[in-house]
Amino acid sequence: MAGPESDSVVVIGGGVIGIACAHYLNEAGYVVTVLESGTLAAGCSYGNCGYICPSHVLPLATPGALREGVLSVLNPSATYRIKPRLETAFIRWLWQFARRCSTLQMLETAEHLSAILESSAAEYRRLLADEIDGTEYRQSGLLYAFQTTKAAEAFSASERTVAARHGVRSSWIDGVDLSDFDGALKPGLAGGVLFPDDASLRPDRLTAQWIALLKDRGVIFREGVRFENVVRSGRLITAIETSEGPMKADHFVLAAGAISGRLASHFGKALPVEPGKGYSITLDRPEGSPHVPMLFLEHHVGITPFDTGFRIGSMMEFAGFDTSIPRRRLQQLRASASHYLSGDLPTVNIEEWYGWRPMTWDSLPIIGAMPDTDNVSLATGHNMLGLTLAPATGKLVAEHVQGRTPHIDSSPYSAARFN
Ligand SMILES: Cc1cc2nc3c(=O)[nH]c(=O)nc-3n(C[C@H](O)[C@H](O)[C@H](O)COP(=O)(O)OP(=O)(O)OC[C@H]3O[C@@H](n4cnc5c(N)ncnc54)[C@H](O)[C@@H]3O)c2cc1C
Repeated sequence: MAGPESDSVVVIGGGVIGIACAHYLNEAGYVVTVLESGTLAAGCSYGNCGYICPSHVLPLATPGALREGVLSVLNPSATYRIKPRLETAFIRWLWQFARRCSTLQMLETAEHLSAILESSAAEYRRLLADEIDGTEYRQSGLLYAFQTTKAAEAFSASERTVAARHGVRSSWIDGVDLSDFDGALKPGLAGGVLFPDDASLRPDRLTAQWIALLKDRGVIFREGVRFENVVRSGRLITAIETSEGPMKADHFVLAAGAISGRLASHFGKALPVEPGKGYSITLDRPEGSPHVPMLFLEHHVGITPFDTGFRIGSMMEFAGFDTSIPRRRLQQLRASASHYLSGDLPTVNIEEWYGWRPMTWDSLPIIGAMPDTDNVSLATGHNMLGLTLAPATGKLVAEHVQGRTPHIDSSPYSAARFN
């Protein structure tokens, strides 16, 4: 048998969630091995927008999302797009999602998201101040900029008011002042809302630095090793089968991103996690590039400045585990950003990327016990917020493995809600 033999935990999946779980488990004294079927942190945790955004309390399932989703079926250019598929699990997922597109459900989900967002933001502040360096972390807030007053007012009426319910600070910036705030913005925009407590970093730098730190602390990372099945004795998983042979541990954590829903069936129960595909391009950093992370909601696109470039990211496609990067989608990212940014964008894409967000139909992550097992924890379903929610997730998983009372109420994230 390969692997650790006592007080050991194997984490399946080497994305930001698996890494965060390894961090807090290592801190709690466990011998931790992270299994990664491909390259560490090269999945959805790689090319995302890098926002640490406690302001994002609103779920994807809002009252308007249902109409948008239905219309998108006929429009391949829609940023938020559902490609119909005759798969029972997907149809069930859509049905449950549609049921949640109401104001009441939205507010309830926001309540549950708010707790874990707050905890994670606090953990990040500590980790990035004391333990993890070199991530291009910017505590410069997140700006939502608008072309039209109508869109700005609609935003204020929903997202900003909900954020206010949860004590999320924000301030209005008049259109005329926007280009002073960030010179990359075009004159003539209607205005913007700044969430000063949001931050950004470069996601691949975060994961690289975090992995290096954990290796120093004794965490074992095994790349190119795929989890395939489990060896079960009643409620206990005694070992897992991997592409490199069986591996024993006292406890297992499933943190395999969008594929986790399918992999969970090996532990006894498939979970409703669907891939929500997004794209990003990373460009060079000429004079006049953005300094502050920004979101342009009218065109559903985000901008993240890095030291050596900036990223444009967007789209939410429900199209299964599709691996293509259509040119028209990348062109769309450029065209969307150009509505707000002055000057021409650099013509070359330094990086072109897609990632599968692990989407649950209720926009809440799945953290805690795997049903019908005594030694498996789940850490998946982080939707559009996996980077932001990683530290609090890792902390909750470590508490679960230790059998300790969770630092926040974790019942809303329990897989028991799918029974
Ligand atoms: C365009 C875009 C922008 C985004 N922007 C943000 C943002 O600004 N802020 C934010 O908080 N979130 C953002 N997200 C969401 C965030 O990227 C995800 O929620 C997060 O990366 C999920 O992390 P993960 O570790 O669960 O999944 P992943 O990073 O996908 O990691 C899962 C890992 O498991 C491995 N794996 C799979 N199967 C197996 C197996 N059988 N055995 C072993 N390993 C396996 C995979 O290879 C993969 O490396 C964005 C997403 C997209 C697409």
